[in-house]
Amino acid sequence: MGKILRVDLDTRMISTEDVNSSDEENYIGGAGVAAAIFTREVPAKIDPYDGKNLLIFSVGPFCGTTVPFCGRHFVMAKSPLTGIIGESSAGGFFGKELKSAGFDHIVIKGISENPVFLWIDNEKVKIRDASEIWNFGTIKTEETLKQIIKDDNIKIASIGPAGVNLVKYAAIISESQHASGRCGMGAIMGSKKLKAIAVRGQGQVTIDNKDNLKSAVKKIRDIVKEDPLANVMKETGTLAHMDNYVSMGDVPIKNYSLSRWPGTKKIGYYALQERYKIKHYACFNCPVACRAFINFEGQMVAWPEYETLAMMGALLMVDDLDVLIKWNGILNDLGIDTISLGSTIGAFLEATERKLIDLDLKEIGFNPDPENPSEYQIWGAITAIEKIFRMVAMREGVGDGLAEGVRIFCRKRNLPEDLETHGKGLEVPAHEPRCNNMTALDYATSSRGAYHCYEPMHLSSMANQKIDIGLDEKVERFGTDDVVNAVVKIQDSSEAYSACGGCIFGFWYVNQIAPWVQSLNAINGRSYTVESWVEAGERIFNLKRKFNIECGITSKDDTLGPRFFTPLNKGGTKQNIPPLDELLPKYYNLRGWDSEGNPP
Ligand code: SF4
Repeated sequence: MGKILRVDLDTRMISTEDVNSSDEENYIGGAGVAAAIFTREVPAKIDPYDGKNLLIFSVGPFCGTTVPFCGRHFVMAKSPLTGIIGESSAGGFFGKELKSAGFDHIVIKGISENPVFLWIDNEKVKIRDASEIWNFGTIKTEETLKQIIKDDNIKIASIGPAGVNLVKYAAIISESQHASGRCGMGAIMGSKKLKAIAVRGQGQVTIDNKDNLKSAVKKIRDIVKEDPLANVMKETGTLAHMDNYVSMGDVPIKNYSLSRWPGTKKIGYYALQERYKIKHYACFNCPVACRAFINFEGQMVAWPEYETLAMMGALLMVDDLDVLIKWNGILNDLGIDTISLGSTIGAFLEATERKLIDLDLKEIGFNPDPENPSEYQIWGAITAIEKIFRMVAMREGVGDGLAEGVRIFCRKRNLPEDLETHGKGLEVPAHEPRCNNMTALDYATSSRGAYHCYEPMHLSSMANQKIDIGLDEKVERFGTDDVVNAVVKIQDSSEAYSACGGCIFGFWYVNQIAPWVQSLNAINGRSYTVESWVEAGERIFNLKRKFNIECGITSKDDTLGPRFFTPLNKGGTKQNIPPLDELLPKYYNLRGWDSEGNPP
């Protein structure tokens, strides 16, 4: 049975309790049980910065076991960016450390009077003063906490200046490089005056049936060994997506207005591997090791993931790889989600070029360019973009408005609706919805807004399918009926998988559900079938939908910004626009929802 650590920052009360057994029965664990706790205890209508909002850190039953890809931790709160349920997750070792300390969930409520950090030393938990480190970046925060605790091996999740200053898309950064980036979870941490969580965990995870687990793990490892996607990721990580999928039109360029640009060749994996020494590393218990350090300016630094290269590079037409590597480190230190940041700056640059914003561009660092309608060089303006994102983190000048995210920034400045590149307030990730109807339908219906981390549909049209839930053929990306069927099945099964606590790439390397179900049953002695496991995922999905409806979401919100319904004339999207009007009624029907998108 899982354990919950409850921390009340108003009263400074700390308590522990077992996870309610019916929650585990119905919602598995991890992000699933977090959703049950969250939707039961958080009033839907509250302001996200109200102390009644819960910030929940969770790990799933896989975490800390021999199941591959199981080091993930998950974060949930009502999002300040979207006003609905917000979620994010990160890899590394923080999750494993939390599990080894004996906890499956940390449920944090209230608002501390002074900045604090939470120190979890196995079963001993303390709220400690963080006034001295409150304004530090995440790197210095980690270094200082390790010195204070006198242990270099503790694992830390913290916020940087962006979280402290309530940037609505602030991230939580663990181990200085793994970002729980999406939905502004770092801003919620900042609103609670919680600078960091530091954990030392030295316990063992109990397993109900070790032999069954061993055989399930062997099946997973054998499949992964042969999987082509896993083998590509082993070498190139997510970075080669820039090189390999730009021809399909999946890479967003110049604020989603182009699908081809020669600059992509300069900022993808192949450009990087020509210039830097690469040293791969893995999250806890991962046989693929898609992460890497590179030798950059005499230091080993984490390479930027595809999403950062695309959203801070291609989307803003920055084609200098050195700059993007440097920005990756700075943005992790500031604690900002690079997807939302890139998208919001993209709207700002376009509005500036269209002369819709009246600002002293020279003062911000833009260089004159008589050829541009604005008379300044806008796209790829490295000095100006860096100055802008630092202003965002500190909420200075124009950065204050940009810190609200693309939807609110555009609306407050009365900018045209076509600049609002989001779904339910969450900025669209670096996978073009016009490139794949599955991506578009998923972005439009995901409980978190336009989100790709739990169910990356762009992979589904190129990776293995799930043969034991009837998805045994690759789905045609511009299709309709097959798209709806696949999106529903993938959304439900990936909710169940996230409730188990795995990295979503692992889910895509394995072409069946059964070994995951066998692993879960072996760990906790339950008797899920593939069918009942997917049904649990559907229950989790519907639970979140019902909460969002209480927040005010209707079927009218199941859409994306208007830009994504204007075809791109050239490139791999082949002038496709996602036929959401056709897809959504079929989607609601298949889900058993009414015609307004309400679950039973
Ligand atoms: S596939 Fe990559 S992100 Fe996922 S667990 Fe392995 S190293 Fe971490």
